[in-house]
Amino acid sequence: MSTDIRHTTAQNLSSFIESIGEKKFRCAQIEEWLWKKGVRSFDEMSNLPVALREQLKSNFTFLTSGIAAMVQSKDGTAKFVFNLHDKRQVEGVLIPSDNRVTACISSQVGCPLKCAFCATGTMGFVRNLHSSEIFDQFLLMNKKSQELYNQNITNIVYMGMGEPLLNYESVIRSVQWITSPKGQGLSPSRITLSTVGIASGIKRLADDGFKPEIALSLHCADELKRRRLMPVTESQNFEMLQDALVYLHEKTGKRITIEYLMLKNWNDSLADAKKLFAFCRPFPVKINLIEYNATQSGFEKSNEETVREFIAFLESKNMIVNVRHSRGKDIDAACGQLVKKVK
Ligand code: SF4
Repeated sequence: MSTDIRHTTAQNLSSFIESIGEKKFRCAQIEEWLWKKGVRSFDEMSNLPVALREQLKSNFTFLTSGIAAMVQSKDGTAKFVFNLHDKRQVEGVLIPSDNRVTACISSQVGCPLKCAFCATGTMGFVRNLHSSEIFDQFLLMNKKSQELYNQNITNIVYMGMGEPLLNYESVIRSVQWITSPKGQGLSPSRITLSTVGIASGIKRLADDGFKPEIALSLHCADELKRRRLMPVTESQNFEMLQDALVYLHEKTGKRITIEYLMLKNWNDSLADAKKLFAFCRPFPVKINLIEYNATQSGFEKSNEETVREFIAFLESKNMIVNVRHSRGKDIDAACGQLVKKVK
């Protein structure tokens, strides 16, 4: 099967253009159609001669994703199911608030990590998404954002299905095309990559000068307890994780966001807050405490008084703490609720 046009390298495209006797500037035109204008077929590349479009069709495929379903919550949040070229599906979410629209994007079909609170983990891992499939989620939801909220997507979180750092190259490439002035031109500071903590991946981000924000889904600062909640902790222990986060901070100066789901009688005691404080001491953080949404996992959300005490302790240690209330709960679009429902 021929290569997909969006999977080919700039060098390969350039060699191809040269081999058919076309001028070099055609490469820039094609890239502009693909990444800036976000077309879905060769026929839309209207400033290319018809003969060149035909040559492209004969030599490359152009695989695109589409929206299979959309459901909108009472609070305006919209969840999308995307059909991929091989009939697999992933989900994405648009979350409108004040003057922003945040898109939550998936990086894998399913997920291999089986976090106990997460519906996606119950699917198992199917495959990685290609950068063009990640990019398509942005393009398709951006169009819907204009229709639903009269505004473009302003922020992106890589927090949907899958662990982004287990699909490193595709995620980075999608970020490049979303942020590049030759692509969609979104500021890197409006993108957050959320990871459960793959230490080697975090160091690689630091080495690669990754510009967007980075969030660690910690959820529990007691290592043994976290192993039960997030089995990945066994191979990515706290020492490795802290070492990687110190490295990231030293190399990039970044303040890491710590995501922490408040689970009743599980990780919400004062002792848990103290452990969280101790975990975060080696590097600057801001903490997002997240309200939990019941899936089939058996966990419950913490009560308000407990959350208040948890916050009071952290603030007494001068930590920056925000509380995130989940959106789109009635449509299973909230954190940890994304799963392809098999009928
Ligand atoms: S929380 Fe993230 S890493 Fe964990 S199982 Fe769900 S999708 Fe995978």
